[in-house]
Amino acid sequence: MELWFTEEWIPGLKLSVQVKSLVHKTKTKFQELAVYDTEALGRILVLDDVIQTTEVDEHIYHECLVHVPLLAHPNPEEVLIVGGGDGGSLREVLKHRTVKRATLVDIDEGVIEASKKFLPQWNTGFSDPRARVVIANGLDFVAEAKEEYDVVIVDSTDPIGPGEALFREEFYRSIKGALRPGGIMAAQTENPIFMPDIVKMVFGRISSVFPVAKLYTGPMPTYPGGFWSYTCATLGPDPSEPARDAGGIAFRYYSPEIHRRAFVLAPEVAKDLSAR
Ligand code: SAM
Repeated sequence: MELWFTEEWIPGLKLSVQVKSLVHKTKTKFQELAVYDTEALGRILVLDDVIQTTEVDEHIYHECLVHVPLLAHPNPEEVLIVGGGDGGSLREVLKHRTVKRATLVDIDEGVIEASKKFLPQWNTGFSDPRARVVIANGLDFVAEAKEEYDVVIVDSTDPIGPGEALFREEFYRSIKGALRPGGIMAAQTENPIFMPDIVKMVFGRISSVFPVAKLYTGPMPTYPGGFWSYTCATLGPDPSEPARDAGGIAFRYYSPEIHRRAFVLAPEVAKDLSAR
């Protein structure tokens, strides 16, 4: 009998992937977690029935979310990742030799434990001596931090459940306070075609807090609409231009040309943001 995992993207539209086997399923303190091996997408991590990351395209998402802010910064030494319990963002951050410490704060220890056991493609950063893992609500953790980080990355679930806190204006204010001078933040900010109201609202909140805020986009085949947005906000520098050479990192998706191009928005998306 064929087994399929199905995620509802929006009402009336679903993504289905054929499952080879269920690798792990549990209910953590915060969410339902499942790891499947699938025919088309390789290993996938699912939280509350939403695909978080898949073996075939996680590199696109993580390289867009991480390398754009880290390469827009001239010398990122202290980096904070909020969410990202699968470890993909941490792995990418640690590819930068400038990074002295990468702190990952996830509310759910269950996700990190599942990654360590079942997600070998993602979990390599956890054993790096520069990595520090904290189990806490990112909202509370960031509120305590004062001018500590060069770059803050928000690798959250969608704005429902525990992830909702990571889309609040007060959270973005705390991130601003947690950044050192010249600091940069990047956050995943959903799909501008299927969720224009969410993108507009989140971008509006971020740009009301930071002096510079720019949306950028990239393909993401297994997220709703196959296309994803990120918002980069800074205390001054223009994030749409790489500030330095990548120092020999072997990228699969990112390049300096893709960095610049990612900030070129379709007129409809740009109009939506300026109309907020
Ligand atoms: N790339 C994924 C996406 O866009 O769907 C997100 C991946 S990562 C698995 C998301 C992480 O955010 C989860 O591990 C979840 O536990 C964490 N998270 C959700 N709400 C949080 C909060 N308030 N504080 C810290 N971590 C949170």
